[in-house]
Amino acid sequence: MTQQPSYLILGAGVFGVSTAYTLIQQYPSAKITLVDRDAFNAPSRVAASWDWNKVVRADYSDIVYCKLALEAQDVFRSDPLYKPYFHESGIFWVCRDDYAKEVLENYKKLGRKADLKAVSVEEAKKLYGGLFEDADYSGGVQNVLINLTSGWANAGDALIAVTKKCVELGVEYIVGDVETLTFDSSGAVCTGVKTAKGDVYIADKIILSTGAYTARLLEQSARSSGKKDISAGGRIVAGGITTGMATLDEESHKRFKDMPVGVQGYTASTGPFIGSLPPTRDRELKWWGQKIFKNTQNVLGTPLSAPPNTPDYNQWNVSPKLKQDIDYANKVFYGKKGATWKMEKHRICWDAFTTSSDFIISPHPSCPSSLYVATCGSFHGYKFFPVLGKYIVQMMQGVLEHELKDKWAWDRERPDEKLNPDWPRWEMKELEGERARL
Ligand SMILES: Cc1cc2nc3c(=O)[nH]c(=O)nc-3n(C[C@H](O)[C@H](O)[C@H](O)COP(=O)(O)OP(=O)(O)OC[C@H]3O[C@@H](n4cnc5c(N)ncnc54)[C@H](O)[C@@H]3O)c2cc1C
Repeated sequence: MTQQPSYLILGAGVFGVSTAYTLIQQYPSAKITLVDRDAFNAPSRVAASWDWNKVVRADYSDIVYCKLALEAQDVFRSDPLYKPYFHESGIFWVCRDDYAKEVLENYKKLGRKADLKAVSVEEAKKLYGGLFEDADYSGGVQNVLINLTSGWANAGDALIAVTKKCVELGVEYIVGDVETLTFDSSGAVCTGVKTAKGDVYIADKIILSTGAYTARLLEQSARSSGKKDISAGGRIVAGGITTGMATLDEESHKRFKDMPVGVQGYTASTGPFIGSLPPTRDRELKWWGQKIFKNTQNVLGTPLSAPPNTPDYNQWNVSPKLKQDIDYANKVFYGKKGATWKMEKHRICWDAFTTSSDFIISPHPSCPSSLYVATCGSFHGYKFFPVLGKYIVQMMQGVLEHELKDKWAWDRERPDEKLNPDWPRWEMKELEGERARL
């Protein structure tokens, strides 16, 4: 019998956990280890994947992600592991360009029948008992996309459930703060990691799924090893975005409990799309804001964007300016209906970003048979949780189909960031205002 390689997966967000789950099913006797700075059931985690809820939709103008999201949704709907966490609430997407048309065409091209259509603004205002009648339809709104088969997931709960399953099947979960990657004397093989406490973990295959921290970790590794070509070199940018929640009073809850996910779509010249998610079981309605920002800092002499360098990324320390961003999001969805809701639970969520919003799922060219990069959710990665591992493992086995291999490559032509509405266009310090002076 041939000996299975051992695997060390850094980061237990959706990219890392999905990889662990696929690997342990394919190689039940392999040594597979997940390392994360937070316990998987910690009361607060820095992972972007750890959240009350995330949108699960296949409404994409890019047909590759449309297809992939449909595949993931099929799992969310049918697999007993994921099913309890998926809510098919529908989506209400205010479109300021051809988005609805492109999504409808993609479903058609893929031969998928679903309950989705584009409706006029007048018609949309009457839907769902008029919940969105006071929304903002200015700025060239063309129509509203209604897809009854889209929805959302209890993100953190699903992440915990799948992680627990991995552990039951034999994956080891280690809490540790990884400081650097380690290499053999030739530098061509990544051998493992060293943590801030000095613990060393080794394996044959190292998978880097460290989300927003990835560029920083690679830079630290470049410095400690002298291997300059290990750096991300601008391919991966950490971006932050604010979320906020309001606990609805009973009357509002009655009205909003069956609402769809709301999305306000904008164009690259205006700004990123804004979203609002239906109330959780604790009656909390959520928004994400429109201000997406970098946090450029000097990491060992190299300027790069990374989350604040504290164990919790300062994620609960949200400035008044960023809180206002959530108030703005409330206004553009609900107008006067939401004017008296009290905003609570603000959080800054950090994700790794590429200019094209494509993931990076690729061998690292500096150590191609031992180090793999699998992250860069670019603010839309959660919904692919059930299928990410399949494609990451295909990449490691060298059998990823060409289209995906090229799209998710470490080295590829990348579009101008200005073409991407979701590209971070602020620096965090510009948005800190009063908080910075406290
Ligand atoms: C505000 C916001 C809203 C979003 N909404 C949606 C949505 O509605 N739908 C959707 O599909 N996607 C959404 N996304 C995107 C999605 O959440 C991310 O793309 C996805 O979760 C990224 O997964 P990941 O595994 O790459 O990273 P993460 O989930 O961030 O996980 C990375 C893990 O690595 C660990 N780690 C990092 N550095 C180290 C280290 N040095 N040592 C040890 N551990 C380390 C962290 O602790 C973390 O657990 C949203 C993102 C944000 C920020």
